[in-house]
Amino acid sequence: MRVMAQLAMVMNLDKCIGCHTCSVTCKQAWTNRGGTEYVWFNNVETRPGQGYPRQYQDQEKWKGGWTLNRRGRLTLKSGSRMKRLLNIFANPDLPTVSDYYDPWSYDYDTLLSAPAVDTTPVARPKSLITGEDTKVTWGANWDDDLGSGPEQVGRDPLLARLSDQVKLEFEQTFMFYLPRICEHCLNPSCGASCPSGAIYKRAEDGIVLVDQDKCRGWRQCITGCPYKKIYFNHKTGKAEKCTFCYPRVEVGIPTVCSETCVGRLRYIGVMLYDADAVLEAASVTDPEQLYPSQLAVFLNPHDPRVITEAERAGISPEWIAAAQDSPVYKLIVDYKIALPLHPEYRTMPMVWYVPPLSPVVDVLAETGHDGEDAGNLFGAIDSLRIPVEYLAELFTAGDIGPVRAALQRLAGMRSFMRSINLGQEPDLTIPGAVG
Ligand code: SF4
Ligand code: SF4
Repeated sequence: MRVMAQLAMVMNLDKCIGCHTCSVTCKQAWTNRGGTEYVWFNNVETRPGQGYPRQYQDQEKWKGGWTLNRRGRLTLKSGSRMKRLLNIFANPDLPTVSDYYDPWSYDYDTLLSAPAVDTTPVARPKSLITGEDTKVTWGANWDDDLGSGPEQVGRDPLLARLSDQVKLEFEQTFMFYLPRICEHCLNPSCGASCPSGAIYKRAEDGIVLVDQDKCRGWRQCITGCPYKKIYFNHKTGKAEKCTFCYPRVEVGIPTVCSETCVGRLRYIGVMLYDADAVLEAASVTDPEQLYPSQLAVFLNPHDPRVITEAERAGISPEWIAAAQDSPVYKLIVDYKIALPLHPEYRTMPMVWYVPPLSPVVDVLAETGHDGEDAGNLFGAIDSLRIPVEYLAELFTAGDIGPVRAALQRLAGMRSFMRSINLGQEPDLTIPGAVG
């Protein structure tokens, strides 16, 4: 066992209202410079939807993350070292600015200088990058306005995969927000893709950073990251990414996105894990086993043997205490209500999500009550407005078992707390209401 410490984040999706405060405050702090106009270290995307950059989840197209070769060994999806070196000169697997979106402002001078005419003058959108008129045909949250059943399918590959399983009529339309930052993965494919060795994972807290002096702008990391969370600064010619606000974290204050989150939905904490077990866990053959195998690399910070090994590895008493008191550990390991995003990319992501608990469609239609009030949410978990199958495509490589269990526990907790707040006796027979 080789104990290492890792900063991790859990986001509770039921609480995200899509206000984008996190994105804006992050941008003001870190990417408010020339060359980063299109860059959002933190973005909040609409689900179902295309994401940011558009269709980033299509790894057949973008070649991100890891895959298993014929001998069952982990290999970069972007190809052999030779292929990647050749790609340095003409990389076909890179999103363009139109995949991110063309950031624009408006030509307000037109309004101020317009002559008196019968019609209202129009401030045309201008690209912030080229200064030319831009045809704004797409944005990262375009799907907010286009939501409707079958029409969602073509824009979201995850939904397209499920179109024969989930109801997609207008009445079943669903939508939620998915805030995203770099996952600070345990097995980051961005670093493995870099020919210059410029990307490194800090030993003390697992934060993944780009050494700006070493970066030569090859952009292989952008292809290699399946979450597309590395960006090219076209002014400096270097790669940039979310730093987990390490200058703030080092002095004991949270990341900007967490501190300013309106929904208070971001939990930060320390996890201890067995570094010797990471590669084996990322190499399991069955993608549906990737979530349980990643769960298994986390170590119990209260186990005396783990504490001894952590001390031997030089982890400070403060960090061990933080791991023992970690809300993230409780949500991921104890309660098992937080799940990883796309474990099938095999990078072992460290930003996890509490899936959204939506109303039960059938029960609502019949009684007008929420599912848990009607007392039968637990038999009706597959009739939630947000299909369990869709959440499983996002969080457990298609295995609906862990998603269903997490939702049942959430429903149980909600029912328990509602009874307490109303001064009623909670129903302790409801699964998840206790423990
Ligand atoms: Fe690297 Fe972050 Fe992408 Fe993981 S999510 S591969 S750490 S850039
Ligand atoms: Fe969601 Fe919080 Fe970001 Fe608002 S600030 S979009 S609630 S994560």
